[in-house]
Amino acid sequence: HQSSRHVRARAEIDLDALRANVRTLRARVAPGGARLMAVVKSDAYGHGMVPVARAARAAGADWLGTATPHEALALRAAGDEGPLMCWLWTPGDPWDAGIEAGLDMAVSAPWALAEVTAAARRTGRAARIQLKADTGLGRNGCQPADWPELVGAALAAQAAGEVLVTGLWSHFACADEPGHPSIAAQLDVFREMVAYAEKAGVEPEVRHIANSAAALTLPEAHFDLVRAGIATYGIAPSPELGTAAELGLRPVMTLSASVALVKRVPEGHGVSYGHTYHTDRETTLGLVPLGYADGIPRHASGRGPVRVGGTGPWRRVAGRVAMDQFVVDLGGDTVPPGARAVLFGPGDGGEPTVEDWAEASDTIAYEIVTRISGRVPRVYL
Ligand code: PLP
Repeated sequence: HQSSRHVRARAEIDLDALRANVRTLRARVAPGGARLMAVVKSDAYGHGMVPVARAARAAGADWLGTATPHEALALRAAGDEGPLMCWLWTPGDPWDAGIEAGLDMAVSAPWALAEVTAAARRTGRAARIQLKADTGLGRNGCQPADWPELVGAALAAQAAGEVLVTGLWSHFACADEPGHPSIAAQLDVFREMVAYAEKAGVEPEVRHIANSAAALTLPEAHFDLVRAGIATYGIAPSPELGTAAELGLRPVMTLSASVALVKRVPEGHGVSYGHTYHTDRETTLGLVPLGYADGIPRHASGRGPVRVGGTGPWRRVAGRVAMDQFVVDLGGDTVPPGARAVLFGPGDGGEPTVEDWAEASDTIAYEIVTRISGRVPRVYL
């Protein structure tokens, strides 16, 4: 039964490739003295948080990072004991548990400082907090105008023994577009906000702003730590930065399925809902048992590439992606039922890559891997 679960479809996770990426990224940032945080939020970008976290630590990731506290607490429950930060807090979140778990907790606003200091008084322990600066992303983080007040309040809480300010940090808006003027502007603002906080008395263990793109292309943005998500999974942050192979990264996920049905149909046959595709000759159709409920973008209808049976040209999704299945037109070729259809993989065997799926779906590779649903079993190599 266990192995039959993997017959329909599976996402193979190559932990050797993941470990190699961690070592590559670490070597990239080490000359400037920076450390590496492997970002494992969102179930490790769909790759499976706990196995990925273990492999990343084993390969030398100094820190792990998550978005929500629940993700970070799940890592602690799985036995992870190393430096661990989580950055997306919502009023009412479990600050007490975060303190007890020794998490580094991001604080962007007075409400969060109020909640974390209340939790510190309840638990009798100082909370490790990292103050987040909005240096231009316009998302989470404290605006420069509000920074003196937040820093002052955090230092008062530190003097009262309620918090320890362990980090000062920010996040880029356009690091994946080399030369974008916002990059230098954000770096300037970050340096100023860090300098202000340090002059006021903050002694941070870490200052950090770099994501994968900045880790790979902007040494001056490395500071003490880089937070690498997408590159850890062997995926290029954006086409402008080159392919994964050009960046020295090894793709970690291979998504494949077994062809469930193969049949001849006459010329002029409509295919899938809406009949957006008609066969232009008598042909062979193959049924791939993966659909939008598995995370295959419906937007890739008519476009998503698939390599069937390990050879031959890429086939394209014929007609619409349905909830559980889609069809490919095999033309004059045929394959036996059960043949392997590879949607994406490393690319070195001639199969499409996740970047190809992103392009075919008018989205980014991040969205493709994170949306592969729980119905697709992950198989660890
Ligand atoms: N840091 C923060 C705050 C993030 O939200 C993310 C993910 O979006 C990352 C780092 C990692 O980014 P990337 O996957 O581009 O390396």
